[in-house]
Amino acid sequence: MPFSKITGHSAIIDNLRSMVDAGRMPHAVLFVEKEGYGALSVALATLEYMFCREHREGDSCGVCSNCIKTGKLVHPDIHFTFPINVSTTIGGDKRGDVEQFYPAWRELVKRNPYFGEQELYKALGIDNKLGTISVAEANSIIRKLSLSSYEGGARVMLVMFPERMNQEAANKLLKNLEEPGNGTYYFLISHNPERIISTILSRCRIVELHPIENGILQQELQRRCGLNEEDAAFRARCSGGSLGKALELIGRGEEQSEENGIFISILQNALRKDLASLMDSWEQIASCGKEKQKGICIEGGEILRKLYMMSLGLEEISYSSAGEREKLRELSGKIRPDFYQKGTGWLNNALECIERNVNPKFIFCDLCNRIFYNI
Ligand SMILES: [Zn+2]
Repeated sequence: MPFSKITGHSAIIDNLRSMVDAGRMPHAVLFVEKEGYGALSVALATLEYMFCREHREGDSCGVCSNCIKTGKLVHPDIHFTFPINVSTTIGGDKRGDVEQFYPAWRELVKRNPYFGEQELYKALGIDNKLGTISVAEANSIIRKLSLSSYEGGARVMLVMFPERMNQEAANKLLKNLEEPGNGTYYFLISHNPERIISTILSRCRIVELHPIENGILQQELQRRCGLNEEDAAFRARCSGGSLGKALELIGRGEEQSEENGIFISILQNALRKDLASLMDSWEQIASCGKEKQKGICIEGGEILRKLYMMSLGLEEISYSSAGEREKLRELSGKIRPDFYQKGTGWLNNALECIERNVNPKFIFCDLCNRIFYNI
């Protein structure tokens, strides 16, 4: 992917381009971002520019053999690593190394380079397990980088989610990361840099990506998804500068998430004073998984915020979608004005209790009770 195809981040791209031009690319670069900002695209475009034989107007040419191989993620001197679960194998292959996951990795990166950690695990078929970058993988990285370059140019290791490297693996890599040798580069991409072992962190040049500006994001959504100006502006505002998140919201369409629906029905049942249905709801939530329970609290907070804005007559800045507006309008007319702030506090409290592994039956029984008596 050439630089010109990237949405936003122009100052960072200018900086990376001039480092390549001047031959001053640091040997270890850590790209830090929130999910969906586009660090992987920026890193891949930088690699394409580094390897391209025919720069054109400050960008890669897109047609030389290096550009083609880089674009297809098959350049022999560009290696990838990412967290995997070694107990999962594909097609009975028990080597447990990262290369068996390359086809799934390539498919994911081409389809959606804005993916988060969970989406990676889903694509690799290990979504019920936690991935790690093991010490065996660290040894394999060092081995790969010790071979001479296949095409006579640079050698690169791109590490996705280095925060999943354990202490032993990190220790193995440290020296190599500090002095990888001439023409060898590490590109690391992290969504949680605070979890990276500090000795690794201190050896990297940090490139921090910022949220994409609303105007740029809006234009991109109009171009990519054919949205009209108003819809694109709405999605851009909801996504907090993350193109990945905006695309996900659009993918979901007007259809509301299940979490959203559950919380709305709690409010409706509380307003109707329908205690039996409300009890059904909390029993249903208590039997869900932890992530879903957290999702209900997060969506619930978002719904209360929208209802509050509507109750103040600020419907246009409640950022509610056309599909949910009617339902929310009806609710906001019935809820007591002092409920919103209290409700947000209870939801935050419930989130903390879920994290602390409090019995979910207690958490949601208490939450529904408070909503029932105070709405
Ligand atoms: Zn090229």
